Amino acid sequence: MPCYNIPMDLSQEVTAAKGIGEKTAAKLEKAGIFTLRDLVYLLPRDYENYQAAVKIAKLRPGKVMVKGKISHIETKHTRRRNFTVTTATISDDSGAVRTVWFNQAYRAKQFDEKREYYFTGNYELKNNRYQIMSPSAVLAEDIKATSSNLHPIYPSRNGINSVKFCQFFDGLKGQFAKIPDLVPNLPDAPIKPGLRADSLYKIHFPDNATEVEEARKYLAYEELYELGLAAQLMKSESRKLRSEKMPFSLQDTKNLLKNLPFTLTDAQKRATWDILQDLEKETPMNRLLQGDVGSGKTVVAAISAYQAIRSGFQVALLAPTSILAEQHAEGLDELLAPLGVKTALLVGATKHKDLLKKQIKEGNVDLIIGTHALITDDTIFHRLGLCIIDEQHRFGVAQRQKLLAKTERNILKPADGEPRAPHLLSMTATPIPRSLQLTVFGDLDISIINQLPKGRQPIKTKILKETAQKSELYPKILEEINSGHQVYWICRAIEESGAAASDSATAARGKASLARGQASAAAETASVKKQTKKLQALFPKLKIEFLHGRMKPAEKDEIMTRFAAGKINILVSTTVVEVGVNVPNATLMVISDAENYGLAQLHQLRGRVGRGSAESFCYLISDAETPSRRLQAMEQSTDGFYLAEMDLKIRGPGEIYGSLQHGALDLRIATLTDTKLIARASKAAKIAARYFSQNPETMLKYKELFSGISHYQQLTILN
Ligand code: ADP
Ligand code: MG
Repeated sequence: MPCYNIPMDLSQEVTAAKGIGEKTAAKLEKAGIFTLRDLVYLLPRDYENYQAAVKIAKLRPGKVMVKGKISHIETKHTRRRNFTVTTATISDDSGAVRTVWFNQAYRAKQFDEKREYYFTGNYELKNNRYQIMSPSAVLAEDIKATSSNLHPIYPSRNGINSVKFCQFFDGLKGQFAKIPDLVPNLPDAPIKPGLRADSLYKIHFPDNATEVEEARKYLAYEELYELGLAAQLMKSESRKLRSEKMPFSLQDTKNLLKNLPFTLTDAQKRATWDILQDLEKETPMNRLLQGDVGSGKTVVAAISAYQAIRSGFQVALLAPTSILAEQHAEGLDELLAPLGVKTALLVGATKHKDLLKKQIKEGNVDLIIGTHALITDDTIFHRLGLCIIDEQHRFGVAQRQKLLAKTERNILKPADGEPRAPHLLSMTATPIPRSLQLTVFGDLDISIINQLPKGRQPIKTKILKETAQKSELYPKILEEINSGHQVYWICRAIEESGAAASDSATAARGKASLARGQASAAAETASVKKQTKKLQALFPKLKIEFLHGRMKPAEKDEIMTRFAAGKINILVSTTVVEVGVNVPNATLMVISDAENYGLAQLHQLRGRVGRGSAESFCYLISDAETPSRRLQAMEQSTDGFYLAEMDLKIRGPGEIYGSLQHGALDLRIATLTDTKLIARASKAAKIAARYFSQNPETMLKYKELFSGISHYQQLTILN
C-alpha cells in the first residue's frame, strides 16, 4: 500500500524519476544535473501560450504563433560563404504562409510533412512579401492539452530539449506534493507548510502568470534565506571563539590624539569607538570599516592598533601594494614611535627578512606592516592580537584565505588552555551595497565613515576629448603647478597590440584589476614612458617622472618619496598609485583612456587628489562619441556610496566582489537588487540562526538546508 506521507528525497539520483534511464542520466550529469533536486530546480526560461495560435488567414504583423504543416522546404547557399537560407510553406485549413530561416540548414530535415507543428516568430514584410521570420517550432503532439494556457519552455541542456524536460516533469508530477519544506517553520519566522512544494509545482505546471510570479518570488526568498543563514551561522561560530580583551585607556588614546595635526571628524570618532569597544570584548571582532577615499581610515586603524599594543599585543597591518605598505609604515611610525611603539615593514624587497621574522617571533616589534609577503608560513607572531587589512577588496580570495589560516596558526594558547583568536578589522573604500551586506557579508559588523574631513571640496570632474587637451588641460596643469600643487597623469596600455586590446576590453567590463598585470605590463610601461616624453617636450621646465609596476621596489619607493616631498611636478603612472596613496598636495588627476577603467577604479584613482584643503580637479580623457555611463556618473558625483550603487546597477553584484567575480554566487532565481525581499529573508535567517544556535540538535532535521548553506559558506571570505 502506498504511503503518501513519506516525503520525497530530493537527493536521489535523477534515475529515480520515471522516464530517465542511465543514458539520459549520463547526459544530464554532464549538464550538472545529478539529483532530483537539481532537476526540479531547473526552471523554465520562458512560458509559451499554445492556445494563442491563430489561423493563417488571420495573421497580423508582429509576433505570431500558428499551428500547421510544412511543405516545399528547401535550403539555398548564398554566395557569401557558410550562409544558408531555408524557406518553406506553412499551411493550415485557412491558408498558407511563407517562412524563412537563416543559417539553420538543419531545419530542412527537421520536419515531418504529415505532422502538425506550432511555429512562433515574427510575421513581417520582407522582400515585398509577408513571411514568418525564423520561427521556433514544436511538434504539436508533444504539447499536451492542459487546462493551462502556459507551457514551460526549458533551456536545452546537452542535447536534451524542452520537450524532453516537459516529459520528465510530467513523470514527476504526482510527486511534487511530497517535496519537503526547506526552511524551518519558527514561531518568530513562520512559513506556510508545503509552500515550497507548491511553488515548485507551480513553476513547472502553472495555471497563469500570477502563479509563476508568486512561485518565483518564494523560491527566490528561500535562496536569499539560505545565503543569509550561511552568513549568520558563520557569525555565531566565530562568536564562540575567544579572543583577548584589550581594555580602553582614555589617557593613552588622548596621548595619541595629541600628536595629530587635526581633530577627528565625528564619523571617525564613531567608527573608532565601535572598534575600541570591540577590542575590549572577549569575542573576536570581525568588523569592516567602510569609508570613502580620503575619509581618514588610516588614523582610525592607528588608534585601534595602539589600544592593542598598549595591552601587550602585536598588530599586523596588511596593505595590497608595497607602495602603500611603505607609506603606512612611514606615517604610522611617525605617529606611534613617540609613544614607544616599535614598527617594522615587511614587503618583498625587505632586506634581512630572517632577522625581522625572528624579532617578530620573539615579540620585539609591535606593529608589523606589510604586503602579502607578510603571509608566508615562516612568519610567526609572538602575540598577534589584532589583524588589520587595508583595502580589503583588493586582496584575492586565496590571499584572504591564506591570511585567515595564518591567523589561525597564530591563535594564542594561553595557560588556561583556551585558544585565543586575533581580532580582525578590514577596511575598504569600496562600499558594499546594502543587499550584499545583508546576504553575503551578513556576518560582518560594519562601521561607516560617511563624512570627509573639514575643508575638503568635491573634486571637479570633467570628461575631455583628446583634442581639447591643448586648450583646456595644459593651461590647467600649468595653473595648478604654478600655485605650488602637483599632478598625477594615469595611463595604461593603449590598444596597439592584440594583448593590450583584449586587456582593455576586459577592463571596460570592469574587471581591470583582474586583467591588469597579465597581458600588458610591458605595453603599460611603454605607454607611461611615451606619455612622459610627450609631457617633457610640452613642459620642458617641469620636473616630470614616471612610475610603473615593473620598476624595482626601491626605485618606486624613491620616486614616491620625492613626489610626496613635492620634488616632482607631474607623476606619470600606471594604476600602481590606485589605492591608498596619500599626497595631499596633489590637486590634479588626469586619466588617459578613461573608458578602459571600471567605475570603482576610476573613483579610487580620482581619490588620489582632493586629500588636502585645496580645490582639486580630475580630467577623464575619452574620445567616445557618447561617454559611457560610468564616466558620466563620475562627472556627476564624488560620493563613493552613490557610485557604488551605480556600479551595482551597471554591472550587477556578481562582478564586483572577490570570489563573486568568478560567478561563484550563482543565484538561480533571486537577484541581489531586490532589496525588499532580501531584507525579509535576512530577517528570517537571523531568527533561524538564533534558533539553531540554541537548539543545535534540530539541525539534523534540516539536512538539505545545511548542505546548501555549506556551499555558500565557502564563499564568505571575510570571516
Ligand atoms: P583613506 O580613508 O582614503 O585611507 P587616509 O587615512 O589616507 O584616507 O587620510 C587621507 C588624508 O586625510 C590624510 O592626509 C590624513 O592625514 C588626513 N586626515 C585624516 N583624518 C583627518 C581629519 N579628521 N582632519 C583632517 N585631515 C584628516
Ligand atoms: Mg587608505
